[in-house]
Amino acid sequence: MPELPEVEALAAFLREHATGHAIARAEVASIAVLKTFDPPLSSLTGAVIADVSRRGKFLDIDCGDAHLVIHLARAGWLRWKDAQPDKPLKPGKSPLAFRLVLDDGQGFDLTEQGTQKRLAVYLVRDPQDVPGIASLGPEPLELSVDELAALLAGRRMQIKGVLRDQHIIAGIGNAYSDEVLHAARMSPYKLASSFTTDEVATLHNAIQETLRDAMGRSEGLAAADLKGEKKTGLRVHGKTGEPCPVCGDTIREVSFADSSLQYCPTCQTGGKPLADRRLSRLLK
Ligand SMILES: [Zn+2]
Repeated sequence: MPELPEVEALAAFLREHATGHAIARAEVASIAVLKTFDPPLSSLTGAVIADVSRRGKFLDIDCGDAHLVIHLARAGWLRWKDAQPDKPLKPGKSPLAFRLVLDDGQGFDLTEQGTQKRLAVYLVRDPQDVPGIASLGPEPLELSVDELAALLAGRRMQIKGVLRDQHIIAGIGNAYSDEVLHAARMSPYKLASSFTTDEVATLHNAIQETLRDAMGRSEGLAAADLKGEKKTGLRVHGKTGEPCPVCGDTIREVSFADSSLQYCPTCQTGGKPLADRRLSRLLK
């Protein structure tokens, strides 16, 4: 799933390639992709793209009177095309979900792999009309140490869950929360309410460094290359069974909420593997 660094890079790519261009047409392959009906998608024809930005994991394409807002969800992606086909988009079972064509024939496709269709497109007058944006927490790179401390204080919730909760902090998902906690050398199960002043500062630093590093690696990459860069840049996320790049211990995995998390026992949990709650429940 694209998170803050990838969505930021996609926004920068689109800002460079699409700003100033008029939209020739916007099409959906399935009506389920478009979550709004007013203004209609057809109203985009002729609109000029004024700017492209990011909020949380949302892409915001400012088209003057309306904003085209995109959430790629878990399996969605954006593909830039130098030449879009002239033929209208055919509805069907292909991964293709949405197509935007600009006045010069360039544009992008949104695709989504898998059977769970979560990719969402909104056409709204104000980005705050998108419920997922209106309820977003603050941007992590704009958070001060004190603001982070205030977000954690009194919260009886595991830090892994806090970091990826979009209502608390926007833009960090399953991958970068694993990376941040590895950089901070903290257990994903540590309770937010237990953080000392020094620990908040360590976490704050890890958030800044992890996201800025990832953004630095993605900067200037074409949309097509971003996905691969995310995978190669990660240290623990998705690396179960591989050696930790810091200490050489074997990276482990436990289930967490609706997915799983990866961590290094030596770096993060005093050498002790975390109990897999879901697994131990099954074994009882
Ligand atoms: Zn390690």
